[in-house]
Amino acid sequence: MFSLQGKKALIIGIANDNSIAYGCAKALRRQGADLAITYLNEKAEKHVRPLAEQLGAEIIAPLDVTQDGQFTALFDRIRETWGRVDICLHAVAFCPKEDLHARVVDTSREGFGQAMDISVHSFIRMVRRAEPLMPPGGTCMTVSFYGAEKVVENYNIMGPVKAALESVTKYMAAELGPKGISVHALSPGPIKTRAASGLEDFDELLEDAAERAPTHQLVSIEQVGAYAAFLASEEAGNITGGVHYIDGGYHIVG
Ligand code: NAD
Repeated sequence: MFSLQGKKALIIGIANDNSIAYGCAKALRRQGADLAITYLNEKAEKHVRPLAEQLGAEIIAPLDVTQDGQFTALFDRIRETWGRVDICLHAVAFCPKEDLHARVVDTSREGFGQAMDISVHSFIRMVRRAEPLMPPGGTCMTVSFYGAEKVVENYNIMGPVKAALESVTKYMAAELGPKGISVHALSPGPIKTRAASGLEDFDELLEDAAERAPTHQLVSIEQVGAYAAFLASEEAGNITGGVHYIDGGYHIVG
């Protein structure tokens, strides 16, 4: 099995033990990576810190991606502690509820801007800060969804937002490939998490995925994590710019 022994990994997006980012953190740790884990705010810290401590995280820090000062402080701390970072995972998304539940036609300018900033541009900000700390190369990953590609009922404005995220992934992969930095979008099938519970009729999406996916199984955060860990390994160093479906094959029939 590939090893991530001694690799330094930053994980953004753990809210609780159902989070996709937590599944990834567990898998990266199991393969030997040292972790930096962030939490959104004081309220989130209560849930995230125990999980981070359990995984032996060497850095546990606050990060609201809209706060440039916190972003800078986090990367300063990574530079001082590790001198580099090898793996960055971005598993963050947000859209104001009234816009998430509206037709795309009715999305507000403010809601669109906020969703794009937190769900897409924050990935750019993360990669830009990581680049100088990845001189031997590295792996940056974000998390998208099939609604980027096809119209998925109730996914609404998050479809176009994820389409932008996937496009950003490809352009950054092209720009950073020569430096040995790979950039990926993971695209899991629906998973019951806090963010997902904000979508209308999410249980129906879960049922549909389980029924129509060729495997007839929902994906777990551990399965997403295992895939992310492989992409972060040196063995996967010549893979970049892709959207990687981890969805029981749902995207081929959806
Ligand atoms: P989650 O609620 O566990 O994670 C979402 C995270 O985003 C939370 O940790 C939250 O704190 C963070 N976040 C929101 N605003 C932030 C901000 N301003 N600064 C920093 N962090 C902020 O839910 P999840 O489903 O694990 O979501 C992770 C990613 O996976 C998201 O991008 C989501 O769109 C994507 N995704 C989810 C599913 C699914 O079905 N659950 C499927 C495909 C893709």
